[in-house]
Amino acid sequence: MPELTEWLFHKSVALRIPLSVHIDLTMRCNERCIHCYRVVEQRPELTTAELKTLLDDVARAGTLYLTFSGGEVFLRKDLFELVEHARRLHFDVRLKSNALLITPAKAARLRALGVRQVDISIYSADPAVHDWVTKAPGSLERSLEGAATLRDAGVTVKLNCPLMKQNVGQYKEIRGLAERLGVLCGFDPMITAKNDGDRSPVALRITRNELREALQDPALNPQCGKPAAVPPGPDSVRGDLDDIPCGASHNACYISAYGDLMPCVAMPIACGNVRDTPFAEIWHRSPEMLRVRSIRIRDLHTCSSCAASPFCSRCPGQALVETGDLYGPSPANCEHALVGAQVAGSPVIPASMLRRPPSAPHTAVAHVVD
Ligand code: SF4
Ligand code: SF4
Repeated sequence: MPELTEWLFHKSVALRIPLSVHIDLTMRCNERCIHCYRVVEQRPELTTAELKTLLDDVARAGTLYLTFSGGEVFLRKDLFELVEHARRLHFDVRLKSNALLITPAKAARLRALGVRQVDISIYSADPAVHDWVTKAPGSLERSLEGAATLRDAGVTVKLNCPLMKQNVGQYKEIRGLAERLGVLCGFDPMITAKNDGDRSPVALRITRNELREALQDPALNPQCGKPAAVPPGPDSVRGDLDDIPCGASHNACYISAYGDLMPCVAMPIACGNVRDTPFAEIWHRSPEMLRVRSIRIRDLHTCSSCAASPFCSRCPGQALVETGDLYGPSPANCEHALVGAQVAGSPVIPASMLRRPPSAPHTAVAHVVD
């Protein structure tokens, strides 16, 4: 973390300031992506007036970074009104979009409003694969046109690509595409379950071997080629037991298109609804929010003694969605940590993959991984 960002992170955690707020403006979308986590409900989405009040409240709470996402944000007729309001409140605004509805006029307006970045989901450089993922014919071509239009208007663009079984072999082509366009790009091998617990998207996750191959590429894994962390001895404990697992509920939160306030978009724990209760009251007093905020690494029953933690970016939301246990490991993160350790030449094994054989004495452990 650069120095100023690190200072901001620690300061906001200490002062309970929701530095980063992610708001889904709508669950409607003009694509039907096979891995999407969104769940469309029958409840009405927040209105323009409700969202403006929310933005006012969030500004008073000290928020700096604001992400508008969805669904497809450009399906909201009031998007520019909301962005204008957000910029008047001096938020640093970032949008997530598939860019299908971008026009030169919209791109110019985003630039004039000072939107920091637009993240565009791209699944392949091959239209057959991308359009199969989105279930929207012609979507790759249109999304790339949108990206180029934004770039030409002077808006920073980043192509985001979740790696799945269907596209893992193509990340180099996507990187080439981004380079030719002159835009940023990023990859994420973590496909999550849906927010209602439906685990069907998890079947799209890449295999251990595919993950190993991807992590051997320094462009995807900056740690690749660097010396491995020294594995702790069998009785050693982590040095970060008093740390928080992540910023969720401490300096970051998520508000759904229906007004539910949650610690993070990846952690579906509704702490209250901004339609019924002001933002600040939920943020400071909701029992659910306070429970998540009270958790420290030492409270995690398996991860607190895990030798593979230097290779792990455990996501508590992921652990909750995958296993129902906010205090436990996330099997997907364990898998990632194991492969990351192997790629770095470290022999450590995630604590979740160690178990006592039934007849063994209490001190012995057996590896259950290859
Ligand atoms: S680690 Fe997971 S729960 Fe925590 S902020 Fe990141 S995505 Fe959200
Ligand atoms: S590798 Fe698994 S057990 Fe170890 S810290 Fe990460 S999530 Fe926890």
